[in-house]
Amino acid sequence: MKHFDVLVRGSGIVGQSLALSLARLGLQVALRPDPVRSDGSPDVRAYALNATSVSLLQALKVWDALPAHAATAVHDMHIEGDAPGASLDFSAWEQHVRELAWIVDAAVLERELASAVKFAPHVTVTTQDVHATLTALCEGRTSATRDALGVNFERNDYGHRAIAARLSTGRAHRNIARQWFRSPDVLALLPFDTPQPQSSYALVWSMPNERADVLMAADDGVFEQALMQATAGAAGELKLVSSRADWPLMRAQASAWCGPGWVLLGDAAHVVHPLAGQGLNLGLADVTVLSQVIAEREAWREVGDEKLLRRYVRQRLTPTLAMGQLTEGLLRLFAQDLPLVRELRNRGLTLVNHLSPVKRWLTARALDS
Ligand SMILES: Cc1cc2nc3c(=O)[nH]c(=O)nc-3n(C[C@H](O)[C@H](O)[C@H](O)COP(=O)(O)OP(=O)(O)OC[C@H]3O[C@@H](n4cnc5c(N)ncnc54)[C@H](O)[C@@H]3O)c2cc1C
Repeated sequence: MKHFDVLVRGSGIVGQSLALSLARLGLQVALRPDPVRSDGSPDVRAYALNATSVSLLQALKVWDALPAHAATAVHDMHIEGDAPGASLDFSAWEQHVRELAWIVDAAVLERELASAVKFAPHVTVTTQDVHATLTALCEGRTSATRDALGVNFERNDYGHRAIAARLSTGRAHRNIARQWFRSPDVLALLPFDTPQPQSSYALVWSMPNERADVLMAADDGVFEQALMQATAGAAGELKLVSSRADWPLMRAQASAWCGPGWVLLGDAAHVVHPLAGQGLNLGLADVTVLSQVIAEREAWREVGDEKLLRRYVRQRLTPTLAMGQLTEGLLRLFAQDLPLVRELRNRGLTLVNHLSPVKRWLTARALDS
């Protein structure tokens, strides 16, 4: 059996990025995709990626290979509460950055990573069993190998699902991401340039399971009407240009992230609510930090040494827990229907909107997870 330095299990965005990143250090990497093939339907999601994630993809030579229509810059962000006039605005110009985030086509990004993997000299894609000094588990939230290791995946199911779809509208998006926070749903329209440049959006709409059941079963016309009602026409007349897909929402955290010869990254280690668009950003930050820790290891230390892997965990645990708590806190705050709580949260939004230092701090956290 051939021996590798690292076996990466799971070829989602985190797994493929890790394989490429470690191969750049000269390590021999085996990448094992899921033996169970997906149903082949394209992922309709578009991810909001922060500056740190974009830097990693640039270093892996994947960012520049993305077709222009697959990545749209966000220059402004407009958040609305559930009371008239309660809103919060962020702008790249005000925060002295070129863009607040990039909205990237999930399926195209996976495809570009796969073609980079194909040409990477030190990466072997295999479904065979192989020996490796380190096994990196990037199998996503349902990781069977993590479960087989006896690692507890502590999960808090929200009883909510997120519906994703692609939309087009007659009105230009002007690179503004729009989000509505109200009880009990959170709706995001992410500016996008496919199929219509400057007038498409990627939708992420999270809501309680019962409502999601109704909206997933509704025909396109009824769904579009519900969208128009929820957005009050702020983004123009929204039309579906893709099928709808939905995901159950949870917050989850593995009880252990590493052991002798194994380590967890991405959703296999932690899952957060997508309302802040940070799950994949956290996973790509895991890739950056693990690669750095491995690159800087003592010459005599093996890549599977648990002491080495703990250095990675120490750097990643705190920001990941903080992001999980922040998203859960926001969700709880906006799930409350008591008039007093509603009044306070909407006043809070408006107050933050007038506090430049707080906005700068929030933007800095969002740009670098
Ligand atoms: C609706 C929605 C919107 C989101 N929007 C954003 C956003 O805007 N920004 C953001 O940063 N994040 C976002 N996220 C979060 C993001 O989707 C995840 O954090 C990210 O996809 C995790 O990537 P991953 O590679 O760790 O896991 P996955 O994407 O789940 O990939 C895991 C891979 O491992 C494979 N696999 C599973 N089991 C095995 C096995 N036993 N052996 C080998 N392979 C296996 C799977 O088939 C899959 O290919 C969103 C999530 C949802 C649900």
